[in-house]
Amino acid sequence: MSASIPFLDLKPQYKALEKQINERIQAVLNHGQFILGPEVEESENALSAYIGSKYCLTAASGTDALMMALMALGVGHGDEVITTPFSFFATAEVISLVGATPVFTDIQPDTYNMDPSKIEKAITSKTKAIMPVSLYGQPADFDEINAIGAKHGIPVIEDAAQSFGAPYKDKRSCNLSLVGATSFFPAKPLGCYGDGGAVFTNDEALFKKMAQIRVHGQESRYHHVVMGINGRLDTIQCAVLIEKLKRYDWELDRRNAIAARYTEVFNGMGQKCVAPLVKSDRGSVWAQYTVMVDDRNAFGAKLKDKGVPTSVHYPSPLHHQPVYASLRDRYQVPVAENVAKRVISLPIFSDMTNEQVDRVIQAVREVVG
Ligand SMILES: *Cc1c(COP(=O)(O)O)cnc(C)c1O
Repeated sequence: MSASIPFLDLKPQYKALEKQINERIQAVLNHGQFILGPEVEESENALSAYIGSKYCLTAASGTDALMMALMALGVGHGDEVITTPFSFFATAEVISLVGATPVFTDIQPDTYNMDPSKIEKAITSKTKAIMPVSLYGQPADFDEINAIGAKHGIPVIEDAAQSFGAPYKDKRSCNLSLVGATSFFPAKPLGCYGDGGAVFTNDEALFKKMAQIRVHGQESRYHHVVMGINGRLDTIQCAVLIEKLKRYDWELDRRNAIAARYTEVFNGMGQKCVAPLVKSDRGSVWAQYTVMVDDRNAFGAKLKDKGVPTSVHYPSPLHHQPVYASLRDRYQVPVAENVAKRVISLPIFSDMTNEQVDRVIQAVREVVG
């Protein structure tokens, strides 16, 4: 039997961009402005142009980007932020880090995103923000969620860490609410070569606040007007992003084509392997291709035997994490609890070969029977 295929392989992507990326990195080494050098603003201009937002600020990570948004909106001690229980840990972590409490409302069983019909009941006088995640690359229901936010005067922050640029009606993820935060962690749809992230907004005042927060709350040199963090992204990482962004549309086409092949086959398998639903008014950028099966452990073990790796995003809802023991019994989120037991992700990346895609499909066919 041939060797296992990788779950994610970024080496072919680097090979395709090697010359441009090397030149860009070399240029930074030559000019030596490693912090807030010219490539930082150049990348921010390119990123905001791609997303369609007025402003972009790069950040040291997606986690810092989310935290800068929360801090700029004044979310802090005693406040509540309504979010999804089914996400990567950082979504809830940033809420707790600023001193607020995450309030988890249930998700939709087919898109895995927040269910807007569950949000309003969770609003209290302490609710200071609503923070949907566009999970696996597909935007959440922003029209509905923004309408709830507007009705109650509560800002909406998009955790777009997995969904950079995903289409939603005539807009793109990161620009679907007051502020969006993404991640450039290498494995994300648009990754740099280390940790990185960015915030996007059309609100000038909010942009200025986040820009201050990113540099220790500094208004001018050594004059600190608000509490901030060291949230800057390195110039070298911005230089890498400038070149990688130019290939992003091609990469999305590839991931969409792979996902379409998977979905066509899995749709014929009924409940044995449930393909992810992408709503017709939006698209996914396929951070993950995640199916639902009844016996996840057996499914994953059999695929592994056939050389196809899998991964679980995510094995438990956030309020079941040990650090959130005090919140564990506070929330009724049966859909998230059920989904967390059944989801399993298959390999998907832009430079996957057609042979690798065929092998995944063939292995799933054999396992499902
Ligand atoms: C990756 C991720 C984050 C955090 O991003 P980092 O760049 O790793 O800090 C936040 N939220 C979600 C949903 C993520 O997937």
